[in-house]
Amino acid sequence: MILAYHRINPWYENDALTVRPEDFERQIKYLQKKGYKFVSLKEYIAIKTEKGQRQHKICCFTFDDGFADNLWFAAPILEKYKIPAVIFIAVMFIGIKQVLPRYKDTEKDRFLRWEEVKKMADSGILFGSHALTHPRLTQIDDSQAYNEIIKSKEIIKEKIGKEAEYFCYPFGDINQNIISLVKKAGYKAAVLTYKKNIPENLFTLRRTGIYGKNNFFIYRIKIWRTYLREKKSGLSLD
Ligand SMILES: [Zn+2]
Repeated sequence: MILAYHRINPWYENDALTVRPEDFERQIKYLQKKGYKFVSLKEYIAIKTEKGQRQHKICCFTFDDGFADNLWFAAPILEKYKIPAVIFIAVMFIGIKQVLPRYKDTEKDRFLRWEEVKKMADSGILFGSHALTHPRLTQIDDSQAYNEIIKSKEIIKEKIGKEAEYFCYPFGDINQNIISLVKKAGYKAAVLTYKKNIPENLFTLRRTGIYGKNNFFIYRIKIWRTYLREKKSGLSLD
């Protein structure tokens, strides 16, 4: 199971992208109690693609967009429970002064800065690409889409000295062409938020999105459904 989060902070009661730190911790404890092992995306892929594997209770944490609260509130909790994580950054959002239209506070709601990304990367958090400008990749022309996919990879490498090995499709917007561009750019795998009817493989890894509006009951149902789905179907390599 790969979980997808956006923001972790104590400031918002009704923001879909925000999970409160105490709820985040409660969710982690629940997974622990249920016997889940927290693994990196690399381990997750290795286990899932192993022939005849019977390990379903593994969990990988991912965060989208690169909000600064990932550093302030998510990172300490991840560290406390020794949970590996990947943060998918929209490269052009890093270090900008603007916040998303849904938010107002230029400090609380800002994105990470490069020095913070570097610091987190040095402490073991993995960074992946969420493109340059978070576009709907199927809605722009091929050369633009490829630029979003490859340039973001190059900039991450240049800024933090580590390869971005994984890609996250903005809005989960994909088609076969976009998938082939992501492969061509040299990524090892790519994730999206769970969508029905898309066969799962290394470049369409499904995630379960956890949102602020999900209470603990809904959260448990999501975990249970994901468990059942993954138990039924394996992950193919192609
Ligand atoms: Zn996003």
